Amino acid sequence: MELIDIGANLAHDSFDADREAILQRAAEAGVAQILVTGSSEDSTRKAIALSGAHRGRLFATAGVHPHHAADLTADALPALQELARDEYVVAVGECGLDYFRDLSPRDLQRRAFGWQLEISAATGKPVFLHQRDGHDDFIAILREHRVTRGVAHCFTGNEKERDAYLELGLHIGITGWINDERRGLHLREVVKGIPADRLLIETDAPYLLPRDIRPAPKTRRNEPFYLPYVARAIAAARGESWETVAAASTAAARHLFRLSPSSGQ
Ligand SMILES: [Zn+2]
Repeated sequence: MELIDIGANLAHDSFDADREAILQRAAEAGVAQILVTGSSEDSTRKAIALSGAHRGRLFATAGVHPHHAADLTADALPALQELARDEYVVAVGECGLDYFRDLSPRDLQRRAFGWQLEISAATGKPVFLHQRDGHDDFIAILREHRVTRGVAHCFTGNEKERDAYLELGLHIGITGWINDERRGLHLREVVKGIPADRLLIETDAPYLLPRDIRPAPKTRRNEPFYLPYVARAIAAARGESWETVAAASTAAARHLFRLSPSSGQ
């Protein structure tokens, strides 16, 4: 059974000391392919380099997270446009709006988001979307740009948000948030209404370590090795076998990001 982690921040420096071991463990757990999230120009370059070093197993996204939106100036834009065309890049983002933490001014978040949607349209690559506390502006911008291909990554919203994304044609990415017995309970209802061919799974490593891992890991660092916990939590919520969730989410990820099955290296 093969799983695909559609969002892992493997360029993060918390993996610098043992990245190869992390990839090895992931493969042993059945995580056949991983999208390495680019969230700044720098992490995008690292994600591309990693993908080149692990052809067919790792793929990159190219983007600037809303937290870093102020860094995506008009002068910086051409470099991102160039990176997005790279052969190892399969999606544009992580991009979107984060009005929860507001680390960049909102007008700059909206500008950076719009630019990245234009890059997605120009390259024909789907968007990798982040949204927190900014749903109304977010959906308006997606509609304005007629976005139809992409994933609402780390979805934690309600039925209304889910349906708005599905109506646009987007996929929905579920993380270990659903494993959280305190704040993830609503997601166990919401996830039932996602068609199997639109449901993707992700760790968002090193963040969002599933809370139901036993024995509990010694560190809080999440990694793709734990993706099966997310698949199992989704399966339990939907009343399906975990093999069903794994097969459908892998097929959906390969379709959206146009991945060939890995050669097994
Ligand atoms: Zn995110």
